[in-house]
Amino acid sequence: SSLSSDTKKLTGSKLLNSQSEAPYQRENATIMTLCRDEDMWDIIKSVRRLEDRFNHKYHYDWVFLNNEEFSDEFKKRLTSLVSGEAKFGVIPREHWSYPDFVDQEKAKEGRERMAQQGIIYAEMESYRHMCRFNSGFFYEHPLMKQYKYYWRVEPDVNFFCDVDYDPFRYLRVNNKLYGFTISIYEFELTIESLWGHVKDFIKKNPQYLDKNNFMDFLSNDGGDSYNLCHFWSNFEIADMDFWRSEAYTKFFNYLDSTGGFFYERWGDAPIHSIGISLFAGRDQIHYFDDIGYNHGVYSMCPIDEQVWLDKKCSCEPNSDFTFRGYSCGQHYFKVTGKKKPDNWKDYAD
Ligand code: GDP
Ligand code: MN
Repeated sequence: SSLSSDTKKLTGSKLLNSQSEAPYQRENATIMTLCRDEDMWDIIKSVRRLEDRFNHKYHYDWVFLNNEEFSDEFKKRLTSLVSGEAKFGVIPREHWSYPDFVDQEKAKEGRERMAQQGIIYAEMESYRHMCRFNSGFFYEHPLMKQYKYYWRVEPDVNFFCDVDYDPFRYLRVNNKLYGFTISIYEFELTIESLWGHVKDFIKKNPQYLDKNNFMDFLSNDGGDSYNLCHFWSNFEIADMDFWRSEAYTKFFNYLDSTGGFFYERWGDAPIHSIGISLFAGRDQIHYFDDIGYNHGVYSMCPIDEQVWLDKKCSCEPNSDFTFRGYSCGQHYFKVTGKKKPDNWKDYAD
């Protein structure tokens, strides 16, 4: 019928609602969110938006994790919104507490020092547990273990365009391990000693460096110093088997053993970005330039008009962050040699 061919044209893939065809085989994937009970109204917004733009057609599961038990109201409301199965998990203590080797007095001094430097979240212990959990543990949670791919979603983010294909399938079919939408420079004072430890790790474990790595995204001098570029990890669509690999596991454990998550304030974004850029092939990192996205003050909005029209986006192209000064977008295009959209200059400042 014309209806089902319309459906196919719209989605570009075989979908469940076309009765004459076999049901869509989902990937081994889940959407996931770490949040608190008090984030309920903001995560409700994110879930509604991603369901409307993507998941109502695919019905992927959605795993919600918290360092405490979610309330019954949280579970009831989120279960009603998620079109796949909604699952709610508590994080085990050992993934959200101080390891023995961390000197808590030194950690406190670090927080006070950073507060004086005016660093955002400087004084927060919970923020450090969160960053450490997202860096090295979320993919080991019992509710996440069965899945290979995940899409990370935070409270009150927005999705501006139809996601009219399955990005998990895209990763698998194209042999990609990690997908991002926004890249940005890190605050140097949060990671002062990080790159030194990264270099030590590489020196001790050169076998883990991918021959075709993406070091030039991270460093402008062949690895001597970090240029602070990282993928913004509040949006990630990625393969957890990479985080579970020997290379990344050893890398995380090595960094963790320095106590830097607590003495400084290392974010999971630079940790993930450095890991994937060094221990995966540069071609295994994908820029989802068609998934319009907002988190806080920064957005990615397709400035290619045909993409905006095809995906029925709702963002202002002028809000796109990719080519602005504080973004690593221009550096990304430079080192990959990819062609920038023709009209990129119109959105560069
Ligand atoms: P920002 O994006 O760096 O400003 O940090 P956020 O405050 O957005 O935190 C990042 C993610 O971790 C979000 O999904 C938050 O909901 C979540 N998060 C942050 N702190 C906590 C916490 O103490 N407990 C829980 N359960 N989630 C947290
Ligand atoms: Mn956030």
